[in-house]
Amino acid sequence: MISARREWIPASAGMILCSVLILASLACSRENKAAPETQSTVVLPASYDSSVNPDPNPPSINADRAMQYVKEIVAFGPRPVGSENHKKAEDYIYAHLKGDRVEDDAFIADTPEGKFPVRNIITKYPGTRDGIIVIAGHYDTNYPLRNTGYVGANDGGSSSALLLELANQLRGKKLDGYSVWLVWTDGEEAVKQWTAIDSLYGTRHLADKWQKDGTLTKIKAFILEDMIGDADLNIERDLNSTPTLETMIYDAATRLGYQSHFFAREIGVEDDHLPFVQKGVPSADLVDLDYGYDNVFHHTPQDTIDKLSPKSLQIVGSVTLETMRLLNAKK
Ligand SMILES: [Zn+2]
Repeated sequence: MISARREWIPASAGMILCSVLILASLACSRENKAAPETQSTVVLPASYDSSVNPDPNPPSINADRAMQYVKEIVAFGPRPVGSENHKKAEDYIYAHLKGDRVEDDAFIADTPEGKFPVRNIITKYPGTRDGIIVIAGHYDTNYPLRNTGYVGANDGGSSSALLLELANQLRGKKLDGYSVWLVWTDGEEAVKQWTAIDSLYGTRHLADKWQKDGTLTKIKAFILEDMIGDADLNIERDLNSTPTLETMIYDAATRLGYQSHFFAREIGVEDDHLPFVQKGVPSADLVDLDYGYDNVFHHTPQDTIDKLSPKSLQIVGSVTLETMRLLNAKK
């Protein structure tokens, strides 16, 4: 059975009901949605900081290289926690971070399917300004589908690859602004069925750790990338994210001419940003849960590389870098 990994709610009366349920930490599965999806026109506040001029050299990434990373990660096969292929994905990430300051947050997670090693991988690129921008994305793949040939090209593959390419963009540069930390999160997926305690193993652990050591108070923004490779890219406006940060992201997308790919639909998403949202860190989830008609490819063996495009990786990568620029321009 496919577990309901994230909750989503159409912009309708059902949204209010499910939102209340989410606040109460009760499951409200995707399959139980009460009404058909509707497209809503999002009224966004004025530009976050209109005094910041568009960058004459807008940031971008090497999209073909990012796509090559997705292909190589997917070639390992299913990468659920505790598997050999998961270890291969870890080794692959480390191999691409040679020369970087790499740390990990490794622990044993107690799950409904037993104990599993979980390892968040972190690289740190120091800046000149006091404060940290965290960019995160998970690299584990769905556990219940581990024996189905499921490879998670978009769900797990795209986020791992985009972060590797962002590392290429940040490496060796003198960052004139906040420090940037990249986090390949682990144990995002539920091992049995999505609940508050069977999901987000890595980020729940990391948020607790960073709360204890004081890191959380330094984080200016936590930006999550998940399922961002779909050739038909539609990034959701997530009701669980921090509105001011989402406004800044929309501003960044608009400056680059990519706004048509952002925020046409409002839904509530449970994802790796939640442990940070719950601890008061400004957080946003860049996620596309319209993966195939009615999200039909999500958490199925159809989540394969042919559904993805380098252009989508480039759009999200560029918007992420432009958002970082806007964060640094903010006084
Ligand atoms: Zn998933």
